[in-house]
Amino acid sequence: MDPLAKHYGQLLGIGEEWTVTEVKLIREENQVVIYLKTTPGRQHSCPKCGKTSPLKDHAPERKWRHLDTMQFETVLLARPIRVQCKECGVLTATVPWAEPKGRFTLMFEAFAIHVIRACSSLEQARLLLGLSWKSVNEIMKRAVDRGLLERDLEMIEYVSVDEKSFGKGHDYVTVMTDARESRVIDVVEGRNEEATDKLWEELNEDQRSRVKAVAMDMWVPFKNSAMKYVAQADIVHDRFHIQKDLNEAVDKVRKMEHRALMKEGDETLKGSKQLWLFHPENLSDYRQIEFKKLQSMELKTALAWAIKEQFRWFWNYRYGGTAKNYFEKWYDWAVESQLEPIKKVALRIKNHLSNILTWFKHRISTGVSEGFNSRIQSIKSAARGFRNFENYRIRILFFCGKLNLLPKTTH
Ligand SMILES: [Zn+2]
Repeated sequence: MDPLAKHYGQLLGIGEEWTVTEVKLIREENQVVIYLKTTPGRQHSCPKCGKTSPLKDHAPERKWRHLDTMQFETVLLARPIRVQCKECGVLTATVPWAEPKGRFTLMFEAFAIHVIRACSSLEQARLLLGLSWKSVNEIMKRAVDRGLLERDLEMIEYVSVDEKSFGKGHDYVTVMTDARESRVIDVVEGRNEEATDKLWEELNEDQRSRVKAVAMDMWVPFKNSAMKYVAQADIVHDRFHIQKDLNEAVDKVRKMEHRALMKEGDETLKGSKQLWLFHPENLSDYRQIEFKKLQSMELKTALAWAIKEQFRWFWNYRYGGTAKNYFEKWYDWAVESQLEPIKKVALRIKNHLSNILTWFKHRISTGVSEGFNSRIQSIKSAARGFRNFENYRIRILFFCGKLNLLPKTTH
């Protein structure tokens, strides 16, 4: 046997079923090509039922990219075996170094997964690996499929359902998350009740019966779907969405007041938008002084802002009962303010109060963890290489699914 071929055979470590017959260095293509053949006289098994079956013939030659040999891209060339199974018929057997349809060896895919995870952008990983977008997408998809297959969803007690915008228009996707483990369970297109139902069906009946609470915003389809599938669970309307609604109400008041003042040539509120939205402690010293000045003038916007800020205290209570008392006082103040946008949000909170007070029992939100939302945001903004929903879903699950993505390699 050619000592070089033998040496490569040892390096590959693919077992005894296959033998390296030749190793070619193609300098002009910067490539090392390794030719493999089945070792004669070995037994083969059916890829479907596993029964020992005779060799029928060989499928046409196929090519797999492997880990580089020094500075050379390295590929394996072989004709997979076709077996004649008594029960299943003629089938192509899986080669030990790759998944059935993969164009890369398992070891290359494992390496690619490590590189993709380590790089701050997919584009960077793609260039480093010398892959096309199509190949990157393929490797990621296989990794996610593998991970989903062996994922354990048994002990999910806290779930979050949230929407994310997708694409340039007003398209949405709905993301279901295991709130305690901070992992995405799945992503579906759309945000209606039907879409949400699909997510719940990812869990079987047993798993659904263990869910104690579901965090969500006050979007009715999410609530309806949860009531159907996890009727025993508490609904917890998300505190961050509520604060956001209040923020938006303050901004509406500011806009209306600014317009009215400008009619009289009063520029008091000009350029003040950010002041009312940021936490005062996050403003520069100069802007803090400006903000204090505005607060001391009897502005409707300042009142709206104060009402919004007061609502933050609501979340600091230890028990729902005392929080409810606080809410009632706050609500009266909000209504007395006569500021329509604020009144509207206050009423909405009041109508949903029973599913907001559940926060004090479960303390879950759709935020899950800060890093998580920013990760999804960066997946969305790095839109290169994916144009469709499916690739978006794969990327979210790849980075946020906490899946075991690696293939089982012999090394
Ligand atoms: Zn069979």
